[in-house]
Amino acid sequence: MSDILVTENIQGASMVRLIDDLDVEFDAYLWQNRDLLKQKLQNAKALIVRNQTQVNQELIDAAPQLKIIARSGVGLDNVDTEYAQEKGITVCFTPDANSLSVAELTIGLMLALLRKIPEARQDTLTGGWNRLKFTGSELYGKTFGLIGMGRIGSLTATRARAFGMNIIAVDPFLAADAPALNRVGGKLVSLDELLAEADVVSCHSPLTPNTRKMLTYSHFSQMKPDACFINTSRGEVVDEKGLIQALLEHKLAGAALDVRETEPPQQSPLNQMENVILTPHIAAFTVEAQERVVDSVCEDVRLVLSG
Ligand code: NAD
Repeated sequence: MSDILVTENIQGASMVRLIDDLDVEFDAYLWQNRDLLKQKLQNAKALIVRNQTQVNQELIDAAPQLKIIARSGVGLDNVDTEYAQEKGITVCFTPDANSLSVAELTIGLMLALLRKIPEARQDTLTGGWNRLKFTGSELYGKTFGLIGMGRIGSLTATRARAFGMNIIAVDPFLAADAPALNRVGGKLVSLDELLAEADVVSCHSPLTPNTRKMLTYSHFSQMKPDACFINTSRGEVVDEKGLIQALLEHKLAGAALDVRETEPPQQSPLNQMENVILTPHIAAFTVEAQERVVDSVCEDVRLVLSG
C-alpha cells in the first residue's frame, strides 16, 4: 500500500524523480480495475490521474487518508470536485501546461481540412496524381468562429489571426472588451450568428452539465455548406449522431474530431467519410506539453504532502 497512487500512464522525468523520492505505486491500468483501485486507495494520500479514472463519490469514500487528487491535464469532468472539496481534499490540475499543444493541433487540423491533406495523401499512396481534385481553400480572409475563448481558445485565435483570419466568438463568461478578444480584433456574437458566419467553427468550451450535447443537428444545419467543424475540447459537447446526419446531408463541408462522445469510439459512419479527420485525443500529446504537465502535477503533490 503506497502513499501515492498513479492510475494511468503518466510519464516523464519528474515522475521518475517522484517515484525515486517517495512511496509511489505506478500502474498505468489501475483505472480499469475499480475494486483493486478502491482497495489500494485505503491508505493513499495522493491520487494522480489523467482523464480515464472516474474519481466519483464512491472512489473518494474509499480513500479516507486522501489529501490531494492531481489531474494530469485539463478538464476536471472525471473528478467530483465538489465532493472532494467537502472532504477537504485538494484538487489540482495543469491548466496551462498543454494549451499551446492543443491550439497547435487545432490549427493543424484546420489546414488539413481546408487543404484536404489526408485525402490527397491517401490518393497519392494508391497511385493517383489528381492535383485539381485536391484544390483547397486558404485560411486568409476566412472567418474563424470559436465556441469558448478561454486559455486554448485564445491561443488558437491568436494563431488563426496570424493567418489573416477574422475572429468571432461565443463565450457566456467573456466581456465584449476582454483583452483576449481585443488582441485578435475579435467580436463576441451569439451562437446563431457564429454558426451562420464562420467558415471554420472550432469548439474550446469545457464539458459541464450546460455544455453536454450543446451542439446538435440543428446547430450543424445552421452552418454554411462549405464550412468545417473542429472539436479538440470534449466529445460529449457534441451530439455525434446529429453531426453525422448533418455531414451526410452536406449541411457542412467537413469535420475534424480529436475527441469523441465515447472513447475509444465504436464503429461509426464517420470512419467512412472522406471529409472527416479523426485523431485519437492526441491534442495534448507533445513531448513539451507532457513534460510540463508531469512537472506541474509532481510539484503539486510534493507541496501538499509536505504540508
Ligand atoms: P478554459 O476554462 O480556459 O476555457 C473554456 C472557455 O469556455 C471559458 O472561457 C468559458 O467561459 C467558456 N465556456 C463555458 N461555457 C461555454 C458555453 N456554453 N459556450 C461557449 N463557451 C463556454 O479551458 P481550456 O483550458 O481553454 O480548455 C478548453 C477545453 O479543451 C476543455 O474542454 C478541455 O477539457 C479541453 N482540452 C482538450 C484536450 C485534448 O487533448 N483534446 C487537452 C486539453 C484540454
